Order: sequence, then structure tokens, then C-alpha cells
Amino acid sequence: MTKKGLLIVISGPSGAGKGTICRHWLDKYPDFILSISATTRKARHNERDGINYFFKSHDEFISMIENNEFLEYAKVYDNYYGTPKKYVEDQLLSGKDVVLEIDIQGALQVKKSFKEGIFIFIAPPSMDELKKRIVGRGTENPDMIAKRFKSAFEELRYMEKYNYVVVNDIVEEAVEKIQAIVTAEKCRVDRNKELYTMIQGGV
Ligand code: ADP
Ligand code: 5GP
Repeated sequence: MTKKGLLIVISGPSGAGKGTICRHWLDKYPDFILSISATTRKARHNERDGINYFFKSHDEFISMIENNEFLEYAKVYDNYYGTPKKYVEDQLLSGKDVVLEIDIQGALQVKKSFKEGIFIFIAPPSMDELKKRIVGRGTENPDMIAKRFKSAFEELRYMEKYNYVVVNDIVEEAVEKIQAIVTAEKCRVDRNKELYTMIQGGV
């Protein structure tokens, strides 16, 4: 029987660098599968449907909710975002490790149904740096920047609900920390119960 893959949830405040870290991490360690979320947000100029997100109308998204197609979903800054359930479950069953890059409300929902998942909180080095990053990204208008920054203050207190925190100061270092966390998690005795019999059988 194929061993089920790991579910790794990368989450934290907007602008902390979740997307940047996931891009660098999966470029360097391409064995992971990044789940593509559905959203009602409009695509940014550099984004493509089916690559960055599945861009949906409000009605399409609501009907996906009604059909129970999401592992989790949340309204984040006036738009809906959700993780399509079937794709993630199929990948895990086929033994692939799946990465979700989602907001805090979504991560806490997933934690209820996937207790064996790995929940990693990406924190900014400081609130000043976070503001610089949100502004520097240049993708939001001033209203939205203020909204995201205000939420980030409140969101930091959810850090304690996660298994790990990684401060995103230097991207490459954050990536190596995440990879080290995953490697250690894979070596946990409770994730390797079949080894006992396998090793004995191999003698
Ligand atoms: P999130 O996905 O958490 O909303 P992004 O990955 O979009 O955040 O990063 C927000 C901005 O900060 C982007 O412009 C990105 O290039 C920049 N950024 C991310 N990580 C770092 C870092 N370690 N040092 C400096 N800038 C960073
Ligand atoms: P953005 O609009 O900057 O792409 O994303 C806004 C926020 O939504 C980010 O914190 C991002 O991690 C989060 N997000 C993206 N996809 C999902 C998802 O499927 N579910 C949830 N709950 N949040 C998501």
C-alpha cells in the first residue's frame, strides 16, 4: 500500500512572504505539489487562470461551496478563497506531499480535519518590514494596504495555534528551515509505524 503524503500548511499574515517562500522552496525541492486555490479575486496583471489561482465568479464559488468541493474556504479581504478538496485528497492518497499556502482562518479550519498536517506560520521580521513589503509589492491600492496591515496585527496572535514559526528575514534561510521541518516530521516515529514490520521482514 502506498504511504499517504504529508499535508503542509504555509500560512501567516499577508505580505509576510508566504508566496515568495513557496515559490523558492518548490523551485529548489520540486517533489512537493502546490495546491491551486479558487478565488473570486480579480487576477493581477501577472497572474494566470489555473496557474496562480482558479479565478471564479461569485456565483461559481458559491455553487462550489454548496457542492462541498472545498477542503476549506474563507472570505479574506472581501474576496472568497478556497482549497479544492478532491485534488488535495487524491494527491495525498497517491503518496505526494501537498502544500497549501492559505490564510489563517483557512489553516485553522484545515487543522480541525487534518490533525496530522504540519502547520507552519510565516512571520515577518517586524511590522515595519511587513508594511514595506506590502507597499513594495505594488499590487494593492492604499485602502487595501491599510486593511491588510491592520489584519496582520491581529493575525500575529494566532501564531500559537501552529506547530512551527519561521521568520522570513532572508528567503533562502526561511526555505531551508521549512525543508528541515519537513525532513524532521518525516522521521517521526508515529509517521513510520510500518517500518518496524518492514525492517523485521527484511532480516
Ligand atoms: P504573502 O504571500 O505572504 O502575501 P509575498 O510573498 O507576496 O507575501 O511577499 C510580499 C512582498 O515582500 C513581495 O513584494 C516580496 O517580493 C517581498 N518579500 C518576500 N520575502 C521577502 C524577504 N525575505 N525580504 C525582502 N522582501 C521580501
Ligand atoms: P492574495 O490576494 O494576496 O493572493 O491572497 C490573499 C490571502 O489569501 C493570502 O493570505 C493567501 O495566503 C490567502 N489564500 C490564498 N488561497 C487561499 C485558500 O485557498 N484558502 C484560504 N483560506 N486562503 C487563501
